[in-house]
Amino acid sequence: MVASALLTKLVPPSEFPGQDNEPSESYISYVLRHENLRPPVAWNNWWRELHWGRFTLMIIMPLYTFIAAYYTPLQRETAVWMVAFYFLSGMGITAGHHRLWAHRSYNASATLEYILAFLAAASVMGPIIWWARGHRAHHRYTDTDLDPYNARRGLFWTHIGWVIFKPRCKHGIVDISDLKNNHVVMWQLRQYPWLVLVAAVVFPTAVAGLGWGDWKGGFVYAALLRLVIVHQTASCVNSLAHWIGHTPFDDKHSPRDHLLTALITLGEGYHNFHHQFPMDYRNAIRWYQYDPTKWLIWLCQKVGLASHLKTFSDNEIRKGELTMELRQLRKKQDELNWPSQNNDLPVVSWASYQSQAQSRSLICIAGFIHDVEDFLGEHPGGRRLLVKHIGKDATAAFFGGIYDHSHAAHNLLAMKRVGILQGGVPHCSEEKVIPPSQLLRVAHMNELGISSH
Ligand SMILES: [Zn+2]
Ligand SMILES: [Zn+2]
Repeated sequence: MVASALLTKLVPPSEFPGQDNEPSESYISYVLRHENLRPPVAWNNWWRELHWGRFTLMIIMPLYTFIAAYYTPLQRETAVWMVAFYFLSGMGITAGHHRLWAHRSYNASATLEYILAFLAAASVMGPIIWWARGHRAHHRYTDTDLDPYNARRGLFWTHIGWVIFKPRCKHGIVDISDLKNNHVVMWQLRQYPWLVLVAAVVFPTAVAGLGWGDWKGGFVYAALLRLVIVHQTASCVNSLAHWIGHTPFDDKHSPRDHLLTALITLGEGYHNFHHQFPMDYRNAIRWYQYDPTKWLIWLCQKVGLASHLKTFSDNEIRKGELTMELRQLRKKQDELNWPSQNNDLPVVSWASYQSQAQSRSLICIAGFIHDVEDFLGEHPGGRRLLVKHIGKDATAAFFGGIYDHSHAAHNLLAMKRVGILQGGVPHCSEEKVIPPSQLLRVAHMNELGISSH
C-alpha cells in the first residue's frame, strides 16, 4: 500500500524539475568564473599578498629557533621529551583535526575530545573549525582552485604558499554545521589564543623546567623546534602526499600513497586510499604499513575513549584496487602484438585454399588458413612434417594427432593466420579456435558490444 502510494507520486523523467535549465557548466567552473580572484603572486606584489602573521610563524619563528638552538645545549631528557611531544601534538592534528573533526571517522568521548583539542592547539595550525572547513573543501574540490591547497598550483603552494599568502579566492562551500554544534570545537575556538600559549609554549617548557630543570631547553626544543618540525611534517600531507608515490586505488586526482610521506606525517601518507575512502579511520589498511594515528585511535577504542570506528567496505576497496590493476594489465596487453581479428581476414573456399597452397606454404588448422613460409626452417618438429600438411587440414595433427602442441605453439600459430576457411571455424571447439593467450583478456565494455544504457 505504501509502495503504491509512493509510486503514484513519482514524476515521469520528462517532468523532472529543472531538466530544461540544467547548468551547462560544473559548479566549480561556475563559481570560479564569478569569483573575484586575487592577482597571481609576483615579484612586484608579494609583500602585499603576504599574510604577515603566518609568515612570522612559518618563516621568522623557525629562523629565530635555529639561532636559539645553536646557542642552547640539548639535554638528553629534553630531546626525549621533544620527540614525545612532537608525536603527541602531531596526533592532535592527525587523530583530532583530521580524522575526528574533519572526517568524523570515529566517535570520541568528551575527555578524548578535550585532550585532542589541547594537543591540536599545541601544533598551532588554526582552530579546529577553521582547519576542518579548509580540509573538507580540499576533499570536495580536490585539484581545483576551490581547494585551498590545490596540488595543481605546485609543490611550493601546497607546502607553505597557501599558508603564508592570502587565499587567491574563497574556498568552496562545505557543510560544517556538525562542528558548530560541537561544544569542544566551539570552546577551542573561543579559547584559542590562550590555549595556544599554554599548550604550545608554557606546557612543554614547564615539563622540562619542573621535571629536570631545563627551562631554556624546554622552551627552545620542546616548544619551538618541536613546533617547527610539526609544521613542516604536517605540511607534507598537502605537498608530498599529492606529489610522490603511486595510485593503487584511483588516479582521477593527485593524491598518492608513499611510505616516506607516511613516516614523516604520523601515518597520513597513504593519501590515495584516504581520498577515496575519507571516512575510514585508517589511512593504511595493511598491518605492515606505518599508521601510528590509526593505532592510537584503535587503542583509544580499547580503553573506552573512542567508539564507532568507521571502515569502508572491503569489497569496495578491493574493487578500486582491481580497477587500477586491470588498467595496468590493459596497458601491458596493448603493448603486445595479437593475431588478426576474424573480421579482418578474407574468407577462402576450400578449393581456393588448395589452389593458393600450390604457390604458398599454407596450412589449414581449426578453420584458419596459416602462412607458415617463414616458419618452415624453424619448426621444432622439422620442416618435413610441415611441408607434408601444406594444402591440407592439419587440425587433428596439430592438436594431438601427431603431437599435442604447447599453448605457446598455439599462440604463435594464431599469429600466422591469413584467412578463414569458408564454414570451417564453426566446426571447431573454442579451445582450438581461440589461442590460450586470448581466452582471458582485458576488454572495455564498448569492445564487448555492451552499452552502459
Ligand atoms: Zn589531500
Ligand atoms: Zn582528509
